Amino acid sequence: MTSFFNETHQVTFRDLKADVEGLSGLRCGACGEIEYDQPSAERYAEAGDALVLEARRMVGEDLRRIRKKLRINQTEASALTGGGHNAFSRYETGKVSPPPAVVNLFRMLERHPEDIKELRRA
Ligand SMILES: [Zn+2]
Repeated sequence: MTSFFNETHQVTFRDLKADVEGLSGLRCGACGEIEYDQPSAERYAEAGDALVLEARRMVGEDLRRIRKKLRINQTEASALTGGGHNAFSRYETGKVSPPPAVVNLFRMLERHPEDIKELRRA
């Protein structure tokens, strides 16, 4: 293991990326594996957490945009997707990560908005 100091590493989550500067720790010369020192490990983890929150916020904004395009309110959207009457409010504000099935359904409805009528009949 050899020490490294003040490096910039990229943290990624899905299609999001962020540079974390000033990282230090140890690197294995054989396999390249890295062990950050404590403050670096914390900052790297925080940057990753921030990307997760950012991704959740973006998915929430996407759901809100599609819901408005479908001309249904949050209560109706929650009733359609079965998450409890406040579920969509929490998804759209990024407080809760929506289940993939909800995101997939809304992305499909965005392409076929007339299908909302079929769902309402069910
Ligand atoms: Zn190694």
